Amino acid sequence: MMCTWLTNMCFKSGTWGEMDFEEDMNHNVMMQTNEPTVEIQPKARKLLTEKESSEITVEEIADLIYNCKSGIVFLTGAGISEASDIPTFRDPEHGVWAKHDPREVGTRMAFQNHPERLWRILLEMVGPDNSPIPNAGHSALGELEKYGYASTIITQNVDDLHEQSGNNNVIHLHGNLWSTECIVCGTPGDTTHELLRDTPKKDLPPRCKKCAQKGVLKPDAVLFGEILNKNILASAVSAMENTPLLFVLGTSARVSPATDLPVIASNAGAKVVEINMEETQLTHTCVDYYLHAPLETVLPQIVECVRRIYRESNPRSSIVASLSKTFSRPSLLPDQS
Ligand SMILES: [Zn+2]
Repeated sequence: MMCTWLTNMCFKSGTWGEMDFEEDMNHNVMMQTNEPTVEIQPKARKLLTEKESSEITVEEIADLIYNCKSGIVFLTGAGISEASDIPTFRDPEHGVWAKHDPREVGTRMAFQNHPERLWRILLEMVGPDNSPIPNAGHSALGELEKYGYASTIITQNVDDLHEQSGNNNVIHLHGNLWSTECIVCGTPGDTTHELLRDTPKKDLPPRCKKCAQKGVLKPDAVLFGEILNKNILASAVSAMENTPLLFVLGTSARVSPATDLPVIASNAGAKVVEINMEETQLTHTCVDYYLHAPLETVLPQIVECVRRIYRESNPRSSIVASLSKTFSRPSLLPDQS
């Protein structure tokens, strides 16, 4: 296959993201695009390192973060959004694809022919009545950024829960479901949140207000048959090449580029920490440290540990922070708790 992620849609990451069409479907889908193929150079695979990862504790992870301070990159997948109850696509009983054929809804061509189908599914899944909210795992990463410890989030997820949690530098490998643009003129539309709230079901799909053709608005999530944005991919690769510390969080890392990015970081000298509920192919290749734990539980513990280390290492600053809080002045120092 030319490039497996061409046919992957990480709608709610790890759901469509790991689904493969049959070979003929792949061929047909790829033939529909005239865009140049963007893929990570094979050198990443050639240089794949093989090493044994060792288990790591919450305290040791907090030490790594505290001593690294900046430039930390977090690669996140479906595992971090699971606790936010985003409906799944692949569940054999209740998933979206148990009820809808992805060929009729999830491809670029299907969207062009019947955009209302995808929009109605979105209304059902993530409309105003079911809008997902960040969980404690997302919030912990937002706190780390507030304290200056997180520089970049690279996510397979198309939700905006990292942004809702205060992370400002978020790279969406598979696009962002919540932003939209007109498929005719390319003008950005209202957010998917706003469109689902303001458009009656019978009037879906929402239309562009700018162009004469009133083109259909499409969520910016990558559909089957669409390629990843090469600028986004380049930004992700650059972040990997320059980080001293990479966290792989809640991704099965079975599809590229999530498979390749940690290898790039490792080959560039980064320490790689994986926190997942199960081992992945990365665990015994480029990962240095591994922790088996649910993210919504362990990430807040790590943040609390970083705070404690900070307080112990900076007792005077802690007093200032405490006073600052007392007088209601904003502080960038870790909360006192
Ligand atoms: Zn338009």
